Amino acid sequence: MKSKTEAIIISHMNLGEADKLVTFFSLDRGMLKGVAKNARKSFKRFGAGLESFTYSRLHLYEREHQELIRIESTDIIEQHSAIGADLGSAAAGAVMLEMVREMSPLGQQNAPAFLLLSHILHLLDLGQDPAFLLRIFEIKFLSLLGYQPKLDHCLSCGTQPKGEMIFEGMKGGVLCMDCVVSSGETRIRLTSGAVGFYYQALRMDMDKVCRLKPSGGIMQELDQAFSAHFFHIIGKRLKSREFLRTVRTIDGC
Ligand SMILES: [Zn+2]
Repeated sequence: MKSKTEAIIISHMNLGEADKLVTFFSLDRGMLKGVAKNARKSFKRFGAGLESFTYSRLHLYEREHQELIRIESTDIIEQHSAIGADLGSAAAGAVMLEMVREMSPLGQQNAPAFLLLSHILHLLDLGQDPAFLLRIFEIKFLSLLGYQPKLDHCLSCGTQPKGEMIFEGMKGGVLCMDCVVSSGETRIRLTSGAVGFYYQALRMDMDKVCRLKPSGGIMQELDQAFSAHFFHIIGKRLKSREFLRTVRTIDGC
C-alpha cells in the first residue's frame, strides 16, 4: 500500500551496501523507522531529503506483515540547512531530536509535538538563539507528553514557594526552603524568576514566546532542573546534551 506523510528526519544510518535506515517523526503517525533502498546511490530520489533536521514529505510503501516501511522517495518541504552549518544551533537541535526519539513511542501520533518541533527548527534555522529555543522546546514538549514538572507548589507542604526553592528531579516538583531537609548532596536551586519564566513560556503561543528575555542565570537554573528531570524520566543522560555542554565551553558562554 502506498501512502505519504510529512515528517522531520531524526537520524539515519547505513544499512548493508547501499541502503539507509531512517528514523523520522511524522505528523500523522508519530515516530517511525523506514528503509530507503539504494539511498546512498540514488540522489535523484532522495537528495538531501533524508538528512537530520529536514522537514520532508516521504512517499512510503508498506506491505502487511512487513516490519519495516519502505521509503520510496522524498520531497523537501523545508531543508533547515543553516542548523547544521552552525555548531551551537546543531548541538541544541541535536538535543531536541534526541529528546523526541527517546520519549516518543513508535507509531503514536502526537501532532502538537510535531508542530512544535517544526516551528522551533524553523526559528533555529533563521538563526535565533539556540539556548533559548532549546529551553522553550523542553518546556512545551514535556508538557505535551504529560511530563510537565510542577513548580508552583511545594511537594511537601503545598504552599507556593516565595524566593528560592529546590527542584526534586525524582519527583518532578519543588520543595520550599522550610521543607528542605539538610543533606550533603548537591541541590538544584530554582528562583521564583525562573519559575515565573517557565509558566509564562508554557502558556504563551509560539508566536509570542520569542519576546521573552530570560537572564543567563534563569536559563542555567532551568537547564539543570530539566537535565535532572529527563534523567529521571528516561533513566539515562542524553548524549547530545553532554555534547552541547562541550560546545558551550568552547564558545565560552
Ligand atoms: Zn514546603
